[in-house]
Amino acid sequence: PKYVYDFTEGNKDLKDLLGGKGANLAEMTNLGLPVPPGFTITSEACRRFLEEETLPEGLEEEIAEHLDALESRMGRRLGQADDPLLVSVRSGAKFSMPGMMDTVLNIGLNDESVHGLAKQAGGNERFAWDSYRRLIQMFGKTVQGIDGELFDAALEELKGGRDDLELDAADFQRLVTTYKGIVADQTGENFPADPYLQMRMATKAVFESWNAPRAVVYRRQERIPADLGTAVNICSMVFGNWGMDSGTGVAFTRDPGTGHQGVYGDYLQNAQGEDVVAGIRNTISLQDLEGIDKPVYDELMQIMDKLENHYRDLCDIEFTVERGKLWMLQTRVGKRTPGAAFRIAVQLVDQGMIDIDEALSRVTGAQLAQLMFPRFAKDAESAVITKGMNASPGAAVGKAVFSAERAVELAARGESVVLVSRETTPDDLAGMIAAQGVLTSRGGKTSHAAVVARGMGKTCVCGAEELEVSAAERRFTAPGGIVVSEGDVISIDGTSGAVYLGEVPVVASPVMEYFEGSGEVGDEDELVQAVHRVMSHADASRRLEVRANADNAEDSARARRFGAQGIGLCRTEHMFLGDRRRLVEDLVLATSSEERERALAALKPLQEADFTEIFQEMDGLPVTIRLIDPPLHEFLPDYTELSVKVALAGDRAEEKDRKLLAAVKRLHEQNPMLGLRGVRLGLVIPGLFAMQVRAIAEAAKAVPGAHAEVMIPLVGAVQELEHVKEEAQKILAEVGVEALIGTMIEVPRAALTAGQIAEAAQFFSFGTNDLTQMTWGFSRDDVEAAFFSKYLELGVFGVSPFETLDRDGVGRLVLLAVEEGRKTRPDLKLGICGEHGGDPDSIHFCHQAGLDYVSCSPFRIPVARLEAGRAAL
Ligand code: ADP
Ligand code: MG
Ligand code: MG
Repeated sequence: PKYVYDFTEGNKDLKDLLGGKGANLAEMTNLGLPVPPGFTITSEACRRFLEEETLPEGLEEEIAEHLDALESRMGRRLGQADDPLLVSVRSGAKFSMPGMMDTVLNIGLNDESVHGLAKQAGGNERFAWDSYRRLIQMFGKTVQGIDGELFDAALEELKGGRDDLELDAADFQRLVTTYKGIVADQTGENFPADPYLQMRMATKAVFESWNAPRAVVYRRQERIPADLGTAVNICSMVFGNWGMDSGTGVAFTRDPGTGHQGVYGDYLQNAQGEDVVAGIRNTISLQDLEGIDKPVYDELMQIMDKLENHYRDLCDIEFTVERGKLWMLQTRVGKRTPGAAFRIAVQLVDQGMIDIDEALSRVTGAQLAQLMFPRFAKDAESAVITKGMNASPGAAVGKAVFSAERAVELAARGESVVLVSRETTPDDLAGMIAAQGVLTSRGGKTSHAAVVARGMGKTCVCGAEELEVSAAERRFTAPGGIVVSEGDVISIDGTSGAVYLGEVPVVASPVMEYFEGSGEVGDEDELVQAVHRVMSHADASRRLEVRANADNAEDSARARRFGAQGIGLCRTEHMFLGDRRRLVEDLVLATSSEERERALAALKPLQEADFTEIFQEMDGLPVTIRLIDPPLHEFLPDYTELSVKVALAGDRAEEKDRKLLAAVKRLHEQNPMLGLRGVRLGLVIPGLFAMQVRAIAEAAKAVPGAHAEVMIPLVGAVQELEHVKEEAQKILAEVGVEALIGTMIEVPRAALTAGQIAEAAQFFSFGTNDLTQMTWGFSRDDVEAAFFSKYLELGVFGVSPFETLDRDGVGRLVLLAVEEGRKTRPDLKLGICGEHGGDPDSIHFCHQAGLDYVSCSPFRIPVARLEAGRAAL
């Protein structure tokens, strides 16, 4: 295979091969934008390298050829002593993983070529030595694995409180000596002087950085597959650290927080690479750049315009100015907040750049879910202690912590924490994930904290410059002498940037209010407008119906407000809790058929009343009612507690308790999940299912237009269903009500014999929670805490199969059951009512599998509507 592509050979659609960075560098090159020449080594080469632990055959030759061509083109050789070509070696995977992997700049410098570089720069010694020390620092840290603190400390010591701009050539030269000492100390070898060796080592290190711990954590969080590998970009260097007429910056074509069009970005004069985001000095805004270098600013604006029109989306960019010449170093379709995603999608439709289908494809259910979270009450009378930048929206309340480790530790104990730091680094990732929100005192909207938080939908306020944060003392001070120490509760508002002392009450979000309301939209709220337009299109596009899992009138009402087209799962067991337990006890203790009938007769009117309310709320929409599913002992007292009670009472123990204890003992199961439950109960306890069906029938009869469907759980054989169905049909006929009778498909045998089961079932509803448990042989309540994190780490699966339907295993059973069921009964109605019914990826699967509806919890309904619409695109 071809492993190396010149920037002129690639394009933006080759992300799989060239990574996002490489593909877009190529795209910009071909658009005629000023990109420093270079080439990309494919992610396939990386995969082979990681598998075989050696560079794939032919790769080195191919790299050499491309480097040769680059050198001829640039008229200088890599690291050439008197006139060196320098390159950066940059990571770049298919999905952007900001700061998670490695990049090394200024490759090609050594004790000789540093003089050549100074000569090239017209005798600019300071610049040459600054570049050299940066190389050793970056190379030492990322390629040689030396603790970066050592370099940072040496730099701080050299600065002695001075600004980096105040350092001169001699300072940097001294720093180079110190850094080389650190390298020799830490590795036992001299810093590699051979430019080609530097490049080779850096390339391997970038490949290996794919598996750096923080990259692994990030991928898991973002659900990025673990086996993609990263491409490597070799890019000739341009220098923002040449002097004050140079600099480096980042920019967005629109505000990634609100979506509004305009000029957003940060720029830093006389600086290189990461300096802008690392917060070494305060950056200036792009508007200020206009004052400093108008021609560069104008060109940048023109390019940003061109990029946005070309990508038809918000782009973010990295650029460098070298002595008044603008260079583009990166672009990509930028990350944005959930609110901005909806706004931008609709804005672009209005600007005629995309159509509404495309707009729908560009927002996700996960983003919508974010927008439904509550926010702080506007009129909350809480003390704002300072304001920072509104980097990533949301309302976070928690105890202040000052290190990622503490955040992880406290969160593991179930505490809510807000991570506070001067600025974050990729090493803080685990802490950011654990925290409710992140607060930094340094850095702008493009800082590490801001970018990462936005990416994961975490609340973030950054650049709260009035705060003095001391991680060592675990506290910060705010204006007015306010001191907040570890454990003190603070609240941060990622939408406004406000930081509060104490806990601020939260209120519903406007999007939630929109769904809760009747669906009417005022003109004033742009976000709600955007959500409304996208949702309407999703509803018009989707083939899947969306139903709710609801067991009572209140949930039914909410489900309807949220747009449910019926109830896909009404569990009846919740109706036996509370005061009604006593009646279940009577049922279990009954020794004669009269006693049993009496107990059932007492339960029936209660059930009937429950169903009546639900039918009324649903007003003619289908309501699928599942007959009782869990084992009966779940309704009885705990065995140990009851034994103790009876033992303590001795002779005075009540007759009923004693009988109950015997019953609990008799009903005790080693493995209740696989025991006497579902249809098995219906067949073993005479009259139980009959009572439920009669309650359903009579309630349906009483509510005009009621549309009931009776669902039998845990069926594994058609014979089970036939018995129950016969009895149920008789009752329905007696009462004079029509209702479909169907079954859950949740035992693997049911899926495997779906063709037979469909003889008796008028509908199937896939109970994918049980189906997943039984297909994997996982007891959900036991495995998640016990070893799922290990399984995720080992890559047995990329996401819990209880969260996202396992297409390869459980999914195949579903597909089989769909096919065989429909073969028997072409009009078989098909739905899903497991937790997966509200999960985006699983919803797409359900669409592809040809189901008629998904059913999920009321709050997930908007998400399911949106994703069902997206699945149909
Ligand atoms: P990341 O993926 O972490 O953004 P990059 O590969 O983009 O890493 O590089 C890190 C920084 O170095 C960025 O600011 C980038 O613009 C800068 N940089 C990379 N290559 C060059 C180059 N050839 N010349 C100048 N600056 C560069
Ligand atoms: Mg970058
Ligand atoms: Mg089940």
